[in-house]
Amino acid sequence: MVITRFAPSPTGHMHVGNLRTALHNWMWARKQGGRFLLRIDDTDAERSREEFVDGIRADLDWLGLGYDGEERQSARFDRYEAQFQALREAGRVYPAYETPQELDLKRKVLLGRGLPPVYDRAALHLTDDARAALEAGGRRPHWRFRLNHDAPIGWTDHIRGEQRFDPSRMSDPVIRREDGSWLYLLPSVIDDIDMGITDVVRGEDHVSNTAVQIQMFEALGATPPAFAHEALLTGSEGKLSKRLGSLGIAHFREAGIEPQALVALLARIGTSDPVEPEPDAGRLAATMDFARFGRAPARFDESELATLNAKIVHQLPYDRVADRLPSGMGGEAWETVRPNLSTVRESADWWRIIEGPVETGDLSEENEYLEIAAEVASEIDWSDDPWHALTGALKERTGRKGRALFLPLRRALTGLDHGPDMAALLPLIGRERAIERLSA
Ligand code: GLU
Repeated sequence: MVITRFAPSPTGHMHVGNLRTALHNWMWARKQGGRFLLRIDDTDAERSREEFVDGIRADLDWLGLGYDGEERQSARFDRYEAQFQALREAGRVYPAYETPQELDLKRKVLLGRGLPPVYDRAALHLTDDARAALEAGGRRPHWRFRLNHDAPIGWTDHIRGEQRFDPSRMSDPVIRREDGSWLYLLPSVIDDIDMGITDVVRGEDHVSNTAVQIQMFEALGATPPAFAHEALLTGSEGKLSKRLGSLGIAHFREAGIEPQALVALLARIGTSDPVEPEPDAGRLAATMDFARFGRAPARFDESELATLNAKIVHQLPYDRVADRLPSGMGGEAWETVRPNLSTVRESADWWRIIEGPVETGDLSEENEYLEIAAEVASEIDWSDDPWHALTGALKERTGRKGRALFLPLRRALTGLDHGPDMAALLPLIGRERAIERLSA
């Protein structure tokens, strides 16, 4: 069974990039009839905050991305400690004592010689006496994972295809700090093993992490999961913008964006499948195919989102929006105004027009015509299609047609030149208000 996870660090609000990663993990699990887990990566006690954990849950909830379980790294420190000790005994982790300044100097020397700044493993070759002397002098070790230089690293990425890394050209990664706290790399691998994760979908900024993590899986006796590294998101202008990095759900809600629109866009941008106004995330998931994910950055365009949003709004049934409509606005009114909306919130503007009073511009030139219209309106049968009854009778009485026939009526009745189908709108305005507006 496919098991995916979304593993945010609760150190800030989620932005579109995170949301997209969450969505793709969700979609992949749904498509395969698998499980999707939420894993809170809160090993960093100082920067992690409970309000951000709540925010992550609320955001997933709003998007409709249900998860089948939630895990927290901060609850698993004992497990990390145990696995760490096992790796230590196996000689796969070792203490290192260099200060950040010393490491920096080493890097600069290598770079100065035109060499890649790979850690020289000096700490691995310390004698017991040398180590004891350092500790006696008050130095505390941080810990590195010893890469196996004899085992070339490779995997077939769902998106990037064949990946190869030469471990001898990589630094042994630091996995634990002097104070005993964990860096991201090892706990994530331990979790992925324990939680049976089969597929890791994440941004391509993690590719080099994956290389070292693959050796960690193997060192812990596990088969690595499959990986999919997606190209990063860029703004419509083609660069990674700061603004994009901060755009979160609050912004989209504020702008009247429906979760279905955001999901439909994030599901497809950067793939060779078209962006479609598909409000059913399950259906989007069913068509998901990593082979269609491109290697070029995915462009996130807010105007594309707005257009998609309107198309989604035009499909929303009344029961999905009822609690957000102005009080008194029923299903019939919703269906009438819906095709004219970019956001659900705009329905309030239409409701105001239906309920009145409406503000019209100067219609004095049409006085005579509107007087006749008011008279006709009081004579027609309102029980069935009053708009066609009204315009049909007016056409006969005045000889007007087309724009000259319709526009003054629309203006007098709604105060606007454009809007929902008058045939649908007029019954909602109703006889009394219509006659009043026409005679005004
Ligand atoms: N907490 C990590 C991040 O937010 C998780 C990366 C991963 O998916 O493994 O980048």
